[in-house]
Amino acid sequence: MREMEYRTLDGTDLKVSVIGFGASPLGNEFGAIDPDEGERAVQHAIDSGINLFDVSPYYGRTLAEERLGKALAGRRAEVVLATKCGRYDVNGFDFSARRVMASAEESLKRLRTDYLDILHAHDIEFGDREQIIHETIPALKKLKAQGKVRFVGVTGFPLHVLADVAVRGRADIVMSYCRYNLLVRDLDAELTPVLRENGIGLLNASPLHMGILTECDPPAWHPAPEEVKQAGQAVAAICRRYGTRVSTVALRFCLNYSYAASTLVGMSRCSQVKTNLEALMMTIDAALMAEIDRAVEPVLNRVWKSGRQENNA
Ligand code: NAD
Repeated sequence: MREMEYRTLDGTDLKVSVIGFGASPLGNEFGAIDPDEGERAVQHAIDSGINLFDVSPYYGRTLAEERLGKALAGRRAEVVLATKCGRYDVNGFDFSARRVMASAEESLKRLRTDYLDILHAHDIEFGDREQIIHETIPALKKLKAQGKVRFVGVTGFPLHVLADVAVRGRADIVMSYCRYNLLVRDLDAELTPVLRENGIGLLNASPLHMGILTECDPPAWHPAPEEVKQAGQAVAAICRRYGTRVSTVALRFCLNYSYAASTLVGMSRCSQVKTNLEALMMTIDAALMAEIDRAVEPVLNRVWKSGRQENNA
């Protein structure tokens, strides 16, 4: 097994593993899991050199944080721990300073720690942009000044919103999802150059396009158009023909994108951790990549609306 690689996350002094552990599946977001196996997956990930863990109170409506906190007991110092605030339900958002500060305290308890390495405002396109810039981020910076949070970030889907808020709000980090993988590759169009210019770090989430680039069906709530789901199946079939696994190819593709310090993949089983680590050793065959590109081309960069109308212009 090849050794884990680490990259420095711009905007911070954090050295993070190129593969990060996305903990939303621990909250049953992709179907019910075995909590003991979820805990073993976390342990196995740490033993394998994965040091970045990302969660949110939204995932499983606090369940993922509870489970991750339990799994990390005694190992907190070995990891870079990121959680979020501002989103609490499908339609439940509160980005007020009062709520996000209380939320951070609640997360600290559930995660059984006294500091967070990263605290993100979660899915900011559902909030008022000016409130995030002038109220939410300043509140997170207050937590930073108190030593409860080391770095402040924003997450969401529309790239221009992330770029605008991160720059005007002077965030340390942005986490984007489903904008750089085999099916959508538009991160460089609006976000990455702005982040580079401003020294803001980037985390890339959802290399498997939230379950489409696997051998299983994506969750029922998946917002991608049907043609994109079908293209994912076509890519899986091509990978099978080349004797390889679609999830490993999809993750490798993201690891090659060097401005993102880490690629966050959602996991809840040891077998997934093991399989995903294989991406470290893989080189994508040029003929395979050309076939994937041809299959994806008709639906490439087909995204969806997310959040408030004014954030989807
Ligand atoms: P993903 O693309 O990582 O896909 C996750 C799905 O793939 C799950 O169903 C998981 O069980 C499955 N999977 C993982 N490894 C597999 C393997 N080897 N073989 C087969 N199936 C496998 O999507 P994601 O979980 O949404 O994204 C990763 C993480 O990024 C999340 O857990 C979360 O921490 C973060 N994220 C944040 C936001 C946000 O802030 N708005 C949005 C999306 C993701």
